[in-house]
Amino acid sequence: MKIFKKKKCKICKNKPGTRFCLRKGFNICWEDCNILRVDEKCPDECDYHLQNSDIMQLKGKSDSQMEYIDLLKKQMDIWVNKPQKIFQDKIPVTMAESSDGRKKIVDFLSQFKVNPIVPLSYLKERLSLDDLKVVSNPQTYEDIAVEFVQNLYTNEWVKAASFMTNHNYWIAHEMEDEFIKIISNNKVIKKINNFDLISSALTKEKDQALVYFDINNKFDLTISLQLTNDHWNIRSLIIGKPELFNSESEAIQQIAILLSKNETTKAFELLSKYSSIYIMSSDFEYYWGLYHTFNKKQPKAEHHFLQALILDPAFIEAKYNYAFIQHSSGNLEFAKKLYYEIIDNAPNEPKTLNNLASMFIDEKKYEEAEELLKRCIKNNPEFEIAQQNLERLGKLTG
Ligand SMILES: [Zn+2]
Repeated sequence: MKIFKKKKCKICKNKPGTRFCLRKGFNICWEDCNILRVDEKCPDECDYHLQNSDIMQLKGKSDSQMEYIDLLKKQMDIWVNKPQKIFQDKIPVTMAESSDGRKKIVDFLSQFKVNPIVPLSYLKERLSLDDLKVVSNPQTYEDIAVEFVQNLYTNEWVKAASFMTNHNYWIAHEMEDEFIKIISNNKVIKKINNFDLISSALTKEKDQALVYFDINNKFDLTISLQLTNDHWNIRSLIIGKPELFNSESEAIQQIAILLSKNETTKAFELLSKYSSIYIMSSDFEYYWGLYHTFNKKQPKAEHHFLQALILDPAFIEAKYNYAFIQHSSGNLEFAKKLYYEIIDNAPNEPKTLNNLASMFIDEKKYEEAEELLKRCIKNNPEFEIAQQNLERLGKLTG
């Protein structure tokens, strides 16, 4: 986590100065970049320079839809005040004073097939073009991300939770409070007093998106979203830049290797580091659980396996470990319930089938036990413990 303040825009002295301006010779924010570049006089060498753009057709780079829409509005502001060839060099704002002029502008604009995110309503309002048909702008993944961060900023945790992919599951299983604890206790999240959208990106399939925010001019926050049934939900949060999104699986692998080699000190260091970045990762919670299991800290292990399950209710290994802790601490009915939930989703999970069978052996329910063990061995012939249990069962019933 960075402690030093990041660069501010040298023009507004307020927003993050995320790009270097070749015209000014210092860092500026994207809003001020738009103000400058819309005159199309920026040098070609700048990635953000604009050239020969027609109305609503910008040829230039934007880091987010928000920036693109802002730029279109600024372009519209210029367009309405300049003589336009298409109107025999008349100026749109002057034309808009008469109904005939307004009709000409409406006819001209109506021939375009505009992308729904283009703020045509802005132009409509600007020139009082009552007859211009405008489709309402769709809610984008950026809008959802902004609304979500807005809720974090105002500490409206319940509302924020409703944006999450697993929200329905949490409600059904009375787990929403657990999630709220995770998010509201985060050091960065609970102290948001200012946020700015910096950039966003969409996958090729257009079903996943990342939206990157600056927080308090100090921290980075990346929100990952998923499109399900035409609706954007929030999948996870990363305290860091969007690039870190792709390194998560590598980081998980690193931890898995360290733990398998029993290098617990190094594993502890990396787990601490990564879990402060990937704050909603069920995997790191799971590995914390394993870490504490290795160190025989059962209550801590139990806590982390449960966190992993809140973050990803379909996480079989986390559920198994959580169930096993219940089993070995004597919460037999609860353990059994969890084991059954596991085999509902993973019908041949060997450890679960075997553990359930041994519970039945203890209860002298030998037929149930035999059925489970046979099912286990049939699908997992290599699993020796089940074989041994079946032999034990043979001796008990023989
Ligand atoms: Zn600025």
